[in-house]
Amino acid sequence: MDFYCYENWAHGRSGHSGRIHKGNCSHCNDGRGTHGKVKGATENGHWLGAFRTVREAHEKAALNGARVIRTCQICLPLEEEPPPPNGEGKPKTQDDPPPPVTLDDLTLWRRGIIQLLNAIDNDPSKKGVVSRINSLSHAGRIPRETASLMVVVVEMRNAGEYEKKNFSHIESEASRYAWKAVVEWAYIQGVELKP
Ligand SMILES: [Zn+2]
Repeated sequence: MDFYCYENWAHGRSGHSGRIHKGNCSHCNDGRGTHGKVKGATENGHWLGAFRTVREAHEKAALNGARVIRTCQICLPLEEEPPPPNGEGKPKTQDDPPPPVTLDDLTLWRRGIIQLLNAIDNDPSKKGVVSRINSLSHAGRIPRETASLMVVVVEMRNAGEYEKKNFSHIESEASRYAWKAVVEWAYIQGVELKP
């Protein structure tokens, strides 16, 4: 899965900006745009890419001087809208905090991780989720840092399920972002996880 960024040199009041898409988005068409035009610059902007990750696309657009860089809300709705630059309104979180993570969320995310593990290696043994993650990490099939993020989600769910743990706001957000990072990694592997 490749990512592209449309770098817009003069987009209304936001000025120099970027919008990141997946290659297969109908607005992107692997960097050819909506009309399937030949890749290249128009008077307003041009496509950057392909990139392997959303982060790489973001970094390149920032390097080119884009001040506001967002992801397409159709093909990459899971990515956070970053707060506007200083002086242009309040950060989004001040008036629209995300709902706290619930045990149901964590259970769904754990199920997504199992789906991802099955896509990587359909292990018929009845090993626990964490041991499967660790085995695949040791075997080099999942990067160690991604494996750790998966374990965060699974252990947090287990604590809620078996120990009736109440999550602090920070634990709740840590789980949410760990899950988002897992979804991003899965995208790159070509596995689409439902949010
Ligand atoms: Zn898109």
